[in-house]
Amino acid sequence: MKKGKKIYEGKAKIIYSTSDKDLVIQYFKDDATAFNNQKKSTIEGKGVLNNRISEHILSKLSQIGIKNHLVKRLNMREQVVKLVEIIPIEFIVRNVATGSLTKRLGIEDGTILKEPLIEYCLKDDKLGDPLIAEEHILAFDWASKTEIEKVKKMILRINDFMIGMFGGVGIKLIDFKLEFGRLTSNGKKEVILADEISPDTCRLWDSVTDKKLDKDRFRKDLGDLIPAYTEVAKRLGILHEQSNLSVVNVTKLSSIKRKRK
Ligand code: 5GP
Repeated sequence: MKKGKKIYEGKAKIIYSTSDKDLVIQYFKDDATAFNNQKKSTIEGKGVLNNRISEHILSKLSQIGIKNHLVKRLNMREQVVKLVEIIPIEFIVRNVATGSLTKRLGIEDGTILKEPLIEYCLKDDKLGDPLIAEEHILAFDWASKTEIEKVKKMILRINDFMIGMFGGVGIKLIDFKLEFGRLTSNGKKEVILADEISPDTCRLWDSVTDKKLDKDRFRKDLGDLIPAYTEVAKRLGILHEQSNLSVVNVTKLSSIKRKRK
């Protein structure tokens, strides 16, 4: 399988075509953005960590029957994924109130929700990913009723699994964002999990100290993002004896190798 042209560039990832029409390569960048692109930076090593963490989580989800786009990780920054038609909705799942929910509704930060709360945002940077209702999704045909019902079932399963997975390594899963895509196989369209699941797309707090181990370190200028993401990777058993430094060194090494080629 050969890597082809760039077909899409997002804020944190690039998608390349391949010689197989059904597969694409997902490249994880080091770019970090927040507040609808108003805050931007490059954090060396972030893409490498997100590639590994997302691969780990999506592989585990496959094992429990959650169909997703991951085929295999190729290298430090790239993975082969199935080409899907992305549903233009960000599905937000919340277990604890924080972030935009508390600002929007005046709910006290840290309030534990009785049940997981699912919110929908339209994927549109120009509009700032506005919150929408299920009725909007149906009114504008962004997804069908059947697709929404299937996605909701998958979301609750994913949330249960991830609460347990992170809980087991001393991390609270506060909230996260998921994206889904349509895949046509054997003439039938099905909805599968796509995009990534990483500390860029989840809020993860240490169970004992409530220390933030996610992208809020960037959003709120808390610093030490790489050590926090590395801590998540180590606790999940992805990085063993590697230190923060070695993630950055491997990144440097792979860019030197690329230049030499
Ligand atoms: P909030 O709505 O509170 O800003 O975000 C809720 C959750 O969804 C957080 O875990 C946040 O990281 C994730 N999230 C929401 N929108 C985006 C987005 O556009 N990009 C990323 N990476 N995560 C998002």
